[in-house]
Amino acid sequence: MIDFLDLAEVNRPIASQLNNAMLKVIERGDFILGQECEGFEQAFAKYIGVKHAIGTGSGLDALTLIIRALDLPAGSEIIVPANTYIATILAILHNQCIPVLAEPSPITYNLDMTRLAEYLSERTRAVIAVHLYGQVSDWKAIEKFARENDLALIEDAAQAHGAIYAGRKAGALGDAAAFSFYPTKNLGALGDGGMVTTDDDELAQNIRMLRNYGKGRTGDSELLGWNSRLDEIQAAILSVKLPYLDSNNNRRRAIARQYQELIRHSSIQLPLAIEPSAHVWHQFVIRTSQRSDLVRHLEDKGIKTAIHYPVPPHQQPVLCQHYRLVSKQHQLPISPKQAARYSLDMQLPDSDILPITERLSSEILSLPMNAALTDEQVRCIAQAIDSW
Ligand SMILES: *Cc1c(COP(=O)(O)O)cnc(C)c1O
Repeated sequence: MIDFLDLAEVNRPIASQLNNAMLKVIERGDFILGQECEGFEQAFAKYIGVKHAIGTGSGLDALTLIIRALDLPAGSEIIVPANTYIATILAILHNQCIPVLAEPSPITYNLDMTRLAEYLSERTRAVIAVHLYGQVSDWKAIEKFARENDLALIEDAAQAHGAIYAGRKAGALGDAAAFSFYPTKNLGALGDGGMVTTDDDELAQNIRMLRNYGKGRTGDSELLGWNSRLDEIQAAILSVKLPYLDSNNNRRRAIARQYQELIRHSSIQLPLAIEPSAHVWHQFVIRTSQRSDLVRHLEDKGIKTAIHYPVPPHQQPVLCQHYRLVSKQHQLPISPKQAARYSLDMQLPDSDILPITERLSSEILSLPMNAALTDEQVRCIAQAIDSW
């Protein structure tokens, strides 16, 4: 029996350290925006190599606050990979902006740089590069594209804690980056949490205010803020876990290498690491056109897998409410009010405009990947796959 991910197992080796960290916070009696959050923000900023790190309540909030702080006009278009997690898209919609869904590369699963120009319009204001599955997007090309077209560049680094591009860490590449500390991420809390990283002083100051009711120095609300803070207990836990991030990522790399060497099945496409020492393998995603059959075969052998993600954002009901779109089964009428709010008088994609995204979502399969997996278990999974 091999679970896809057993978080109790993952956290067990440091359970007593986590316990002590939580007890310290309980005894101090300070739970919101105290010394733990500040200490972890400083440690994380240093680790990523940026001036500012601002803790938030979640990764979704980190993304939402970045876009808010950029102060883009309503109806601005933001180019985003169509195969991302729904959170990236929700952050755009919450800001009355339009997600322009771009096809990923079927090799790296990140934005296909050869096609980005197709998605440009006079209303494009930003690009969100999602470092999917733990591999940084083609940054040199993205930077050039953003510079040439005067676009803000946001990183969704929720799956890429510790990933590297040309010597710089994910989170230090764009104008600002969002991290998630959801428990399953490479650096995971024991609850929700997120972080914005940036070198921009003004953006950082704005996001600090926005996460805390828009309060400025005097404590008066100056901006239309939210309540989205990284709480002291989660910050204390993350401070315990941060020093283990690199060794855990190295363990993930070793597991990925083992999978790459052992899985030989001719109907399976293995993932590609452009730079093996830079990938942090949030997920190890294989592809096959007979996925449901493979899932059943592995389940019979007691091995659990997962899919990231089975339904792409453009086929989810929420997008159909905001978009004139896609899957007939979910299609809902757009009220004039919504259309006006989201400036939906524009041309939006029809159903077969994202064939690569749709094909990937039907073929991808995530194998177990976490630092607690043993070599023996990895061998067992690889053997089970090759016996399919
Ligand atoms: C997890 C994740 C998020 C959202 O983070 P939460 O902390 O769960 O809100 C955003 N983008 C991507 C790519 C993610 O994997």
